[in-house]
Amino acid sequence: MASLSGDGSVINLSKIQIGIEEKIMVKRVLDSGMLAQGRRVKEFEEKFAKLCGTKYAIAVNSGTAAIHCALYAIGIKKDDEVITIPFTFVATANPILMQGGKIVFVDVDEKTFNIDPKQIESKITNRTKAIIAVNLYGQPANYKALRTIANKYNLKIVEDACQSHMAEYDGKMSGNLGNIGCFSFYATKNLCCGEGGMITTNNAEWAEQCKRFRHHGQSEKTKYEYHDLGYNYRMTDLTASIGLIQLERLPLLTNRRIINAGTLTEGLKDVKGVTPPYQMIGTKHVFHQYTLKCKDRDKVQESLKEHDIQSGIYYPKPLHLHPFFKGKDGDFPVSERLAKEVLSIPVHPSLTDKDLKLIIEAVKK
Ligand SMILES: *Cc1c(COP(=O)(O)O)cnc(C)c1O
Repeated sequence: MASLSGDGSVINLSKIQIGIEEKIMVKRVLDSGMLAQGRRVKEFEEKFAKLCGTKYAIAVNSGTAAIHCALYAIGIKKDDEVITIPFTFVATANPILMQGGKIVFVDVDEKTFNIDPKQIESKITNRTKAIIAVNLYGQPANYKALRTIANKYNLKIVEDACQSHMAEYDGKMSGNLGNIGCFSFYATKNLCCGEGGMITTNNAEWAEQCKRFRHHGQSEKTKYEYHDLGYNYRMTDLTASIGLIQLERLPLLTNRRIINAGTLTEGLKDVKGVTPPYQMIGTKHVFHQYTLKCKDRDKVQESLKEHDIQSGIYYPKPLHLHPFFKGKDGDFPVSERLAKEVLSIPVHPSLTDKDLKLIIEAVKK
């Protein structure tokens, strides 16, 4: 296939940003002989809490584990209802089931791809306990509206911040926008440890509960005293040592993503048939994904492919249409339509100006 760049190289949809510093840190941990959760994890937690502006941060081994811990901590139990969106990664919703709760889907807003606050109240019952708001693609949801509803009905807001490291809403950092925040450090996320996760909160009791839950229900102070059901969700010092370096890189890498997104939007804003991402006033969008809405997605994707540019569809099918989640066609029309239109194109920090030009040209064709 002919490549515009002419050198046969592919422009990847994501690229891990690991340097010599991470390698040195990992080697240091290996040489120390202390591989499991230890002082590196503690240091990572302290620095991450500082970044988010929360009192506490608790490290775990995935974003899924973070959401599970958060739901446990806020007290989600059997038959409790938790509201979230069907247009997300499955790991937003599965932890509700892990706690024996019931998933109640609410459709997303057409422009922001995030939960539509106007549709929430009609789904609230006397069993509703929480809303999991997803900051999809790196843009915070509408927390002002969410807080109003949460206060009125005494609900907790769980922030699925797995795609929104360093995003902001009204000057406040992601992780500190609801009552408890959940991050992922999976390989393709804005902060990458391979696997990993973090819970952020200002609630001391919840922080203790998360620590117990990740450690077989043991308090970290009294070993072999089991207070409740728990799991092994601990992060290793190896992971944390990568995370600590990644944390230092994050501001610069995030800015790079935002600049790249600006270049793409400038180049694509007048192109017929594609709609660049909408940015809500008062939010800092960190562009985990740069996602277009396309009238004819197949065509755009085909053109990108011809120019050796990767693209991705997040997500090709809303959760409720998977038989496991027992929904049906027409239940959430906005999510269903978006699933047919969205296309994520490269925005990662390693893109060159030439790459960005090629991407814009390929979409235009
Ligand atoms: C990545 C992701 C998760 C899960 O994180 P893992 O670390 O892969 O377990 C949850 N929700 C969203 C929106 C994500 O993008």
